[in-house]
Amino acid sequence: VTPVHIIGAGLAGSEAAWQLAEAGIPVIIHEMRPERPTDAHQTDKCAELVCSNSFRSDDKEYNAVGLIHDEMRRANSLILRCADEHKVPAGAALAVDREGFSQAVTDALMNHPLISMERGEISGLPPAEWGNTIIATGPLTSGSLAAAILEQTGEQSLAFFDAIAPILYKESIDFDKAWFQSRYDKGDGKDYINCPMNKEQYNNFIDALLAGDKTEFKDWEKNTPYFDGCLPIEVMAERGRETLRHGPMKPVGLTNPHDPLVKSYAIVQLRQDNALGTLYNMVGFQTKLKYGAQVEVFKTIPGLENADFARLGGIHRNTFLNSPRLLDPTLRLKSRRDIRFAGQITGCEGYVESAAVGLMTGRFTAAEKQGRELPLPPAVTAMGALLGHITGGANEDSFQPMNVNFGLFPELDLKKRVKGRDRKKLYTDRAIPAFDEWLAEIGN
Ligand code: FAD
Repeated sequence: VTPVHIIGAGLAGSEAAWQLAEAGIPVIIHEMRPERPTDAHQTDKCAELVCSNSFRSDDKEYNAVGLIHDEMRRANSLILRCADEHKVPAGAALAVDREGFSQAVTDALMNHPLISMERGEISGLPPAEWGNTIIATGPLTSGSLAAAILEQTGEQSLAFFDAIAPILYKESIDFDKAWFQSRYDKGDGKDYINCPMNKEQYNNFIDALLAGDKTEFKDWEKNTPYFDGCLPIEVMAERGRETLRHGPMKPVGLTNPHDPLVKSYAIVQLRQDNALGTLYNMVGFQTKLKYGAQVEVFKTIPGLENADFARLGGIHRNTFLNSPRLLDPTLRLKSRRDIRFAGQITGCEGYVESAAVGLMTGRFTAAEKQGRELPLPPAVTAMGALLGHITGGANEDSFQPMNVNFGLFPELDLKKRVKGRDRKKLYTDRAIPAFDEWLAEIGN
């Protein structure tokens, strides 16, 4: 069997290599470190953790990240195995000794008889003679490779910065205050959810925004200018007290059905974020506010007092594809089917999600090499929900990186309303047997 080439030995590339090799397929990993460093990595090890040492919640019953941990463990994940072996005390979270963890991943890969590593930067798209290739070069993909990907995919399809507006669960919005309506009733007239503010509420909101704790850009991020149209909301507010009322919070073309005679002073709009209609993003609210400050400030918006956030906002240096547009359901580039992508470059976000996408990419590639059909993981599982979101469920026009969360899962079929922890448990109760069935079907 000819080898599969994997570019990048980060969280995703390492997991993909392991899955392929365990399926009996030889792998050549190309890693540019230490010859060519990135701005964040410090070592030449595989699967280096560039910042926190946490894989987040390990609770598989009530948390979507914990659930994906569980699925990965059952699917023979190298990343989860090494994390478990190098675990440090962290309450309900899975945190690791970073050096022990990366060394263990490196040793497992280097000791595998079917895996070899070539050091050095791959500066263009892989040549067709390589056959099946996986690009897993992460948020800090080297400039020359990024330029080659950009040329292949087109300008609108690869971003170098993310601008994430907070995303919340529709079911947590108070529709006694909010309402559905598109500005000037365009589209089908009900595309947006609107939250109204009077003058006093608006002024208090601006004060809170300006006073809130912000995260600083890292030195190497400062050189990347803000894109037009994605200024942090607090930077817009700094430019003048009225700026937001004339920008993303303008109150025109909308009528509050709860109070039709009173004109709103400002309006926050939320736009549907996934095909399922369970998640909505706060339009124009990309921000560098710290997470705690975001929750505090955004919950002052009428209708969002009890908002449950699927993810909070952020702006970072990042490199990611418009995957819903460019990739097929098995993560292949539609315009070059010999290339698959894995990890953060596919528009997932986080160590765990990157490794999970690496796991799926590795398995899809192995099946293709062996001439087998591999059914997709069911949409009700954490892996299936994440994969479905990045390869099609997400809105192409506003695609931004995504963590795994229950808002990506198909809605529960419920006779009565169930909230909070009980609702989370229903998602995981449905997911765990479905994942087992999938593993049995694919002969894990
Ligand atoms: P990486 O782990 O970055 O792996 C990509 C690999 O590809 C690297 O080893 C790189 O050297 C190599 N490479 C790049 N270009 C080339 C090339 N042309 N040729 C050969 N090799 C190449 N997530 C969290 O969950 N928690 C955090 O605390 C966290 N902090 C982060 C902090 C920073 C500064 C950044 C940038 C990201 C952070 N992330 C965090 C997000 C993300 O989950 C991690 O970056 C994660 O490592 C992504 O996994 P990956 O495999 O896609 O990419």
